[in-house]
Amino acid sequence: MKILLHICCAPCSIYPVKTLRNDGYNVMGFFYRHNIHPYTECLKRQESLEHYANIINLKVIYQEGYDLEGFIQNTVFRESNRCLYCYHDRLRSTALTAKRGKFDCFSSTLLYSKFQKHDMIKSIGESIGKSLGIPFYYQDFRAGWKEGIEESKRLELYRQQYCGCIYSEKERYIATTRVHGSTVQGSEVKKLIGSKSVPSGKETEICEGLRAYEDINASNREP
Ligand code: SF4
Repeated sequence: MKILLHICCAPCSIYPVKTLRNDGYNVMGFFYRHNIHPYTECLKRQESLEHYANIINLKVIYQEGYDLEGFIQNTVFRESNRCLYCYHDRLRSTALTAKRGKFDCFSSTLLYSKFQKHDMIKSIGESIGKSLGIPFYYQDFRAGWKEGIEESKRLELYRQQYCGCIYSEKERYIATTRVHGSTVQGSEVKKLIGSKSVPSGKETEICEGLRAYEDINASNREP
């Protein structure tokens, strides 16, 4: 069975590729670029994947072009819901490429991440699969979360610090919280977390960025 696997980055591909190969699949990767900002970050992730793909002898299709403008136009005014568009476009591009290439099915390393909206990815993948007439392969790759992290560290692969789009970069680095009525940002939040002096309870409102920051630090792993 030939499967086209959307790959968001080298570290996230480790466990899914290994598992699929063990299950007898002939795996080829597909690297989507439009959601990775800025362009230099996209190149870093692509180079890291090229390096890893070489090590494990994996063929990868690298998307051509870099449609930053299209991505922004499709997410503006619905920034809080942007992942819906992002997942859909990544999975649809993968499915269309898989169809053209006569693959038996398609899937995504997004199913490996503990930080992505797993159920939404599954549902979008299955719906695209049905509408385009190519099966979406679902597996909960999160079971290999630790294994993938350890292997990526062992191989010294580039490990990004935020999901991909410019919004996620902001959330990663401008963690903002309200502490006793004052807004605290960025390095101040880190200091507070480091000193364990962030008060809990109603007086502290922790925004998404801070939660992401804590998650990342808890696992020492980016989304
Ligand atoms: S946070 Fe990640 S999944 Fe969501 S829109 Fe940005 S790049 Fe896409």
